[in-house]
Amino acid sequence: MLQLNIAHLYPEQMNIYGDRGNILTLVQRCRWRDIAVHVDAIKPGQQVNWGSYDLAFFGGGQDSGQALIADDFVRRHGEALKAAIDDGLTMLAICGGYQLLGHYFLTHTHDKLPGIGALDVHTVGGEKRLIGNILVEWREAFDGAALTTSSASPQPRYLVGFENHSGRTYLGSEVRPLGQVRRGFGNNSEDGTEGAVYRNAHGCYMHGSLLPKNPHFADHLLGLALQRRYGSSAALTPLDDQLEAQAHDVMVGRLA
Ligand code: GLN
Repeated sequence: MLQLNIAHLYPEQMNIYGDRGNILTLVQRCRWRDIAVHVDAIKPGQQVNWGSYDLAFFGGGQDSGQALIADDFVRRHGEALKAAIDDGLTMLAICGGYQLLGHYFLTHTHDKLPGIGALDVHTVGGEKRLIGNILVEWREAFDGAALTTSSASPQPRYLVGFENHSGRTYLGSEVRPLGQVRRGFGNNSEDGTEGAVYRNAHGCYMHGSLLPKNPHFADHLLGLALQRRYGSSAALTPLDDQLEAQAHDVMVGRLA
């Protein structure tokens, strides 16, 4: 039986706009396929052997929630998590979690929260919050590199979500954008990009929750994690995603 181990970073401090729905989606899509899945909540002060995980998830949070865990995150996990990401660990980080995977987050009240620098991005808070539904053209889909098993035709090329952040994130040369904003603000509302990808680590501003609204992206992440653990022959069996695809398409239609 295939097995995946998932680490969920600071679920109590960093869970906003239903981000936990991403974990529920990953778990359920594994269960439907008879993949054994184990989730550990990583709490402040907890030691972690990052080599034992296949996938890590880090949700969003208010500036105050981020301030509670930023030091613990950087000091306890910075080096080892960065090494695991360099080694191909699959990761999804949303909004506040995304910001802490970068070099730093300078909040709009001028507090500098450190990040682990696993993603070559930095974030600066602004006065006006960037709020609303967001439509993103997903880069892997038009590059043909997406690992989804979706039987939908044409293959889903969009990601839909909801964003609410004061931080503006700017990408360095070591990351590529997750996609291009077609509606909404994305990384910084200036350069048209949303999210950042480095190896198998993904950061973005899309709450929603993201993965229930975009099952093709959930499968992309699960596919990456399985491939790293079992090699490229470990394929995901397709699921019946008709309902999920309809919900996704309604949002694409509304926002396109
Ligand atoms: N506190 C951060 C910001 O406002 C992240 C917000 C979030 O996770 N939704 O930019």
